[in-house]
Amino acid sequence: MIRARCPICGKNFETATIDAWPGFPFCSDRCKLIDLGRWIDGNYAIPGAEEPKEDELNADDAEDHG
Ligand SMILES: [Zn+2]
Repeated sequence: MIRARCPICGKNFETATIDAWPGFPFCSDRCKLIDLGRWIDGNYAIPGAEEPKEDELNADDAEDHG
């Protein structure tokens, strides 16, 4: 018997073998999908949300110091 704790919802569960538990190490397909969704969110993070700031300002400053 294998005892495990779902990393998503923290629920404890037991299974005879890992093969007998398709969703391992998650307690259910639902938690497995939640974990998968987190990975996808990370990969598809929207770039360009930050406005340009110090980099451009520093470029102007460099000329003033001359
Ligand atoms: Zn869970």
